[in-house]
Amino acid sequence: MLLEGKYNNQLEILSEKISEAKKIIIVPHYHPDGDAIGSALGLYILLAKAGKEVSVVSPTQYPSFLYWLPQHSKIRVLGKKTEKDPDVFKDADLLIGVDFNAPNRIKNVADRFEESKAFKVLIDHHPNPEKFTDLLFSETKYCSTAGLLFEIIENTYLKQYLDKDIATCLYTGIMTDTGSFSFNSSNPNTFRIVGELMKYGVEKDIVFDRVYNSFSSDRMKFMGHVMLNRMVIIPELKTGYIYISAKDRKDFNEQFGDTESFVNIPLSVKGIIFSAIFIERDNFVKISLRSKGSFSVNEFSKKHFNGGGHINAAGGESFDSLQETTEKFVSILDEYKNVLENYVY
Ligand code: 5GP
Ligand code: MN
Repeated sequence: MLLEGKYNNQLEILSEKISEAKKIIIVPHYHPDGDAIGSALGLYILLAKAGKEVSVVSPTQYPSFLYWLPQHSKIRVLGKKTEKDPDVFKDADLLIGVDFNAPNRIKNVADRFEESKAFKVLIDHHPNPEKFTDLLFSETKYCSTAGLLFEIIENTYLKQYLDKDIATCLYTGIMTDTGSFSFNSSNPNTFRIVGELMKYGVEKDIVFDRVYNSFSSDRMKFMGHVMLNRMVIIPELKTGYIYISAKDRKDFNEQFGDTESFVNIPLSVKGIIFSAIFIERDNFVKISLRSKGSFSVNEFSKKHFNGGGHINAAGGESFDSLQETTEKFVSILDEYKNVLENYVY
């Protein structure tokens, strides 16, 4: 049973709300990743099979390495069109948020999500969820929202609808949120869930290929440029960072999602346990942070860059220039000098 029965009551309410609901809308976070989209689509296919009128409404575009997922073209992307879509949640009687822990993570639709009269459910694995839904499934023990969602499905009447397409979506969420089982996946339950998903016929080698071997040649050259010219390694602080200007993005014909895994590159350097990337976007600098072991980039991001996330993967934003932001980052590192210099991993 899901976490030894802790959620029995909530599972009952969820089943009831789903069977009563006529119109259900699933919402992943803005800038959705493989876990947010995999969870949203898996749930979408499942609820459609259960006879529900259901849709996925994404606050922004999703990355192209997911364009092969079953039913992905059904996702409604709001993005800049949002002003023309004032009634996105009109007539919905059930809203289900996946893979985020606070309304500000759905940006442009947060107000309307909160104002909606629909019954609201949140399914997520980030720490410190805010209370803005009627029902909350939130467990950091799960490597991914997709894994948690699988156990929720397993423990309701919806289990009968599980199939290969749904399992493929959920597996994609688990695979991408664990860097293909390279981190955040030591809990044996992760592999139990994956084992169950395999029984539905997930072609895991194909999933890997679709997700990780889908780059354009421009993107590979962009990565080469970044590694050669835009990566700074500070060995004594066990830290590395990358900065990318708007011009870099233009020069290498950046497509949506191209910079997705660049933040991990410095962590491939021996001894580096903390990595950051700063990307100059239209009106701000997008920051991603990664770490190994107990160094919490979630706390780091919350404290210095107005962000959040998990212990080993977090993000934030800066409204200073790219150069000011990286200078600020380097000066903040001073505060952590002791911790980083003596860090053992
Ligand atoms: P990424 O670096 O891949 O964008 O995000 C890594 C993790 O940090 C994700 O789990 C995401 O939820 C979280 N995250 C990324 N950007 C932000 C942000 O600006 N604010 C908060 N609160 N979390 C973020
Ligand atoms: Mn996730």
